[in-house]
Amino acid sequence: MLDNISIVLINTTHPGNIGAAARAMKTMGLSRLVLVEPLEFPSGKAFALASGADDLLANAKVVGTLEEAVADCHFVVGTSARVRGVSLPLVDPRACASQILGEAGAGQIALVFGREDRGMTNEELQMCHLQVHVPTNPDFSSLNLGAAVQVMAYELRMAWLAVTRGELPLPIPRSHDLASQEDVERFYEHLYKTLVQIGFLEHSSHEKIMAKLRRMYGRIRPDRVELNILRGILSETGKCAEKADQAEKSESAQKT
Ligand code: SAH
Repeated sequence: MLDNISIVLINTTHPGNIGAAARAMKTMGLSRLVLVEPLEFPSGKAFALASGADDLLANAKVVGTLEEAVADCHFVVGTSARVRGVSLPLVDPRACASQILGEAGAGQIALVFGREDRGMTNEELQMCHLQVHVPTNPDFSSLNLGAAVQVMAYELRMAWLAVTRGELPLPIPRSHDLASQEDVERFYEHLYKTLVQIGFLEHSSHEKIMAKLRRMYGRIRPDRVELNILRGILSETGKCAEKADQAEKSESAQKT
């Protein structure tokens, strides 16, 4: 189960934090590290702080975007100390750990951490199903990146130990054909294009409406077949809009 969980670090500035994250992961039995455009990697400083978790660094997958990092995942969890305007369902690390383990029984999961200086952007959080907030001192809420990974990795281990001892019943994983984040992103692109085409989205309101639609579909979590049905509806809607557009054009051409 722990093998299906990837820890994703976005644009990490200090390579020492990558090493500290690798150490935190290995001590808790996690092994999949994904780095989105790290500033400096590979780096001696990362290996120094990894303190023996060198294999995790050597096997770390380095990618260019968060989309790429989570493409094969069916459940994505973001971490942030800050609650956003269009906020996701918010959970603490303990509640989140058992949910992640339940999901990990059915496929790949990503747990995403932000940059040291400014965390995760709103757009990045909108790629997630859940936001985890470590309930820190509200007057000083931001943990060091390595420490944040450690807290989450510890809770995942505790939940996993409880599962192996039969003390924590996990939610039954959804058995039907789960959609990957790549499928879901393609659906959002199609939805956006169609909503612009039919004139529903005006420039000023794009961002908020799309964030709310993403949150709604993230709550529903359509499977692959359901996504295909939705995309079929979008394609037909697009065709109707095109026909109406052409009819309007030829009508105005006849008038002139
Ligand atoms: N200044 C940044 C914090 C960056 S700390 C901000 O305002 O968002 C680096 C990363 O550690 C964060 O992006 C997040 O992934 C994690 N983190 C730090 N404190 C956290 C907290 N209290 N709850 C959840 N994640 C936290």
